[in-house]
Amino acid sequence: MARQQKYIFVTGGVISSLGKGLAAASIGTLLESRGITVTLIKMDPYINVDPGTMNPTQHGEVFVLEDGAETDLDLGHYERFTNVNLSRKNNFTTGQIYDRVISNEREGKYLGQTVQVIPHVTDQIKAHIKSAAEGADVAIVEVGGTVGDIESLPFIEAIRQMRYDLGRENVLYVHLTLVPYIEVAGELKTKPTQHSVRALRSDGIDVDILLCRSKQALDDEIKSKIGLFCNLQKDEVFSAVDVRSIYEVPICLQKEGLDEKIVERLNMWTSKPNMSAWSKMVNKIKQPKYELHIGIVGKYVDLKESYKSLNEALVHGGIFHDTRVNIEHIDAENLEHSDSAVSDALDGMDGILIPGGFGERGIEGKIAAAKYAREKRRPYFGICLGMQIAVVEYARNVVNWQDASSAEFSESSGHLVVDIMDKQKNIKGMGGTMRLGSYDCNIVEGTKAFSAYNKKMIRERHRHRFEVSNKFRNELAAHGLVLSGFCREERVSANGKDLVEMIELKEHPYFMACQFHPEFKSKPLAPHPLFKSFVGAALEYRKGAK
Ligand code: GLN
Repeated sequence: MARQQKYIFVTGGVISSLGKGLAAASIGTLLESRGITVTLIKMDPYINVDPGTMNPTQHGEVFVLEDGAETDLDLGHYERFTNVNLSRKNNFTTGQIYDRVISNEREGKYLGQTVQVIPHVTDQIKAHIKSAAEGADVAIVEVGGTVGDIESLPFIEAIRQMRYDLGRENVLYVHLTLVPYIEVAGELKTKPTQHSVRALRSDGIDVDILLCRSKQALDDEIKSKIGLFCNLQKDEVFSAVDVRSIYEVPICLQKEGLDEKIVERLNMWTSKPNMSAWSKMVNKIKQPKYELHIGIVGKYVDLKESYKSLNEALVHGGIFHDTRVNIEHIDAENLEHSDSAVSDALDGMDGILIPGGFGERGIEGKIAAAKYAREKRRPYFGICLGMQIAVVEYARNVVNWQDASSAEFSESSGHLVVDIMDKQKNIKGMGGTMRLGSYDCNIVEGTKAFSAYNKKMIRERHRHRFEVSNKFRNELAAHGLVLSGFCREERVSANGKDLVEMIELKEHPYFMACQFHPEFKSKPLAPHPLFKSFVGAALEYRKGAK
């Protein structure tokens, strides 16, 4: 008989943004360190089929998986904190569940029945969870939203049934709450946690392990108090204290004995945890030898969540070079006023990065930033839209095609050096229709891209509709733009030509851009080659500038 799968369900209480995704990811790190194979799943209570059509200021970044699924940013944490390679099964929404239930109903699969939340919707949720969990010893499943939300009730009911179906040894409930410190009283307050645990209990879920977010560690006395009110032993109540780097979270939780308790409760025999590589990496983050500043010129400056993977990939590049990378989010629109606005914002930067993006706002400011980087010989890294911007800037200011533009922003230009991809031309629907996911890219030997990767063939993840126009590419190359990576997969381009995936400049210390999103594949223990080389170049610049 097949081995019984084990499940850890992670819920959140009191307030949102407590870091449930990080808690789930950290449990993954700790279990993997004991030789357990894990997978991580996120259930999102909203009705969109996926977050691909949402504004990043509402939802945070859209994280793209190998198979092209557009997913919640927590899946980025899951992949960065563990060795898992997730697929579209690992993130599902209420929208997807209902979509399936309604299709089933139309196909006559429930013939004669009244279709209801229980059992039809909850059965569908359980089927999704089980299918995504296949092959792993333990599936860690994060329930999106906060306990008490109306939207997440079917998910809560489904996970309640899973313990009923599979037994206590195979299902564990971990609840993350907030224990606020009230300055005027000089005390940590446990009441919100008590309420949250009680709310879960009234939905039929008895919490097994409580993770308490707090400014300072909880002492035994307060753990006992929380335990008494929440029906838990004090060693089932854990502190999850605020830390400077997210990568410290697994280490702190391990010190509290969380992984020990989890394997004990799931009745699993494991090897001893080995966190030495992870601890070494965290120490490097905490005690860097160098420091530098990277300016990210984008549309979203207030919400760091919009560029989550990018920020992390820069941290990873920094780990490799023993360097703290300070990130400044620069509003592209502010660079549109004057040259001095550009210098004011960028003079102090050791490197300039233009990330992926959509829409016209801030485009001219981004072009000004690329021009500044090219002319001032400042390290530049363009990602997706950042590559398209670099090509438009080069066409305008080096080749001297004043009207050069991208078809995303101009209908009339005679030099659309960035154009809609052939395969995208007739697409009308918006959800999941871009060029998405992993494609091969051939790197041209002798280029900086080749030195960064040290490989002729790479595979990276994409999310775009536009590309460098094959009509103008030879002329651009004749004027010195180095085309350093190509996708040769036939399906990309109906006219049979390959697609430009990377560009760079020869006579520049570091001016590199790619059509794909390398940030989605960077991990703290395996920093991405392009982030290593970009941070390395910025460090060189900084040393020279001193
Ligand atoms: N808007 C551009 C495109 O669709 C760039 C997309 C991106 O940066 N992810 O091609």
